[in-house]
Amino acid sequence: VRLESFTLHPHLRAAFTGREEGNQASHTGADPDAVAGARALVASGLGFPPERLRYLHQVHSARVAAPAGPGGIAPEADAMADVTGDLAPVVLTADCVPVLIAASGPDGVSRLGVAHAGRRGLLDGVVPAAADALLRGGGERLEAWIGPSICAGCYEVPAAMRNEAQALLPGIAASTTWGTPSLDLVGAVAAQLRAIGALVHVSGACTLEDPSFFSYRGGDLTARNASLIWAA
Ligand SMILES: [Zn+2]
Repeated sequence: VRLESFTLHPHLRAAFTGREEGNQASHTGADPDAVAGARALVASGLGFPPERLRYLHQVHSARVAAPAGPGGIAPEADAMADVTGDLAPVVLTADCVPVLIAASGPDGVSRLGVAHAGRRGLLDGVVPAAADALLRGGGERLEAWIGPSICAGCYEVPAAMRNEAQALLPGIAASTTWGTPSLDLVGAVAAQLRAIGALVHVSGACTLEDPSFFSYRGGDLTARNASLIWAA
């Protein structure tokens, strides 16, 4: 697990799991008991009960959901906003960009957000939608961690796809290290967050190049890394 902290919200933590913590995704046909065990180990290792974990049924949308109730079904959405500060929202990725967003209100309560920013959801605005849900929930002083994901030097896409993305999000167009069209997902997420005044931290790890993380393009078609935020 890679552990990080927030500077404006020093009681909040960010964690990014990888290959060592095992597959954290239940939607890809994995053995449910193995996934539940891997998830519980992550929570206990971080010092809180697994009941605090809250997942999404991710569908590459820009939809923001409230966390499910205890034992409830994961909502179909790609962002979550916990305005109670009591939970540990989780986003699952294996090349897409995991985004953890913190805010707190004048009441002292933390607002915790996560977003799953793949190419489609990113272009459709899932990241600002997640941040906006925290602001509308009374949060202030946005601060975000962008977790391990495929880098601009590796994320090759067809030229037409790069052009379509660039038209929607100027600055996202990039090139691979071997000179073909690519997209800078992390740069685009960071730009969207900074545009709304958030303090942004970037993990910098590339899931395709760093073997400690699962990577879809690297051949991990069903396993996912977990990125989560919680109040320590
Ligand atoms: Zn890379």
